[in-house]
Amino acid sequence: MKKLRCSKCGRALTDPFSIAIGMGPECRGGLSRKGWRFPKPRYKVSGGRVVLVEMVGKIEPPAVNVEALPKKSKVKGRKSEAHDDDE
Ligand SMILES: [Zn+2]
Repeated sequence: MKKLRCSKCGRALTDPFSIAIGMGPECRGGLSRKGWRFPKPRYKVSGGRVVLVEMVGKIEPPAVNVEALPKKSKVKGRKSEAHDDDE
């Protein structure tokens, strides 16, 4: 049985839901804070083990326009060159 890894951070996935999605819980949490939606897992307990029965929904990227949010401007090298005279 091969080990499946998180597509984001590369850590080995252990729970069936993470394996089905291909991403671990921490990375899912990080993305869901950014507006991503993930399927809802349905589990059942079978013989003392938790089994993933099905997932309701699918992975959806954020519906909000993330592009509209202010981004960190990538200024490198050329910041405040003109004011290095503070003494
Ligand atoms: Zn991860």
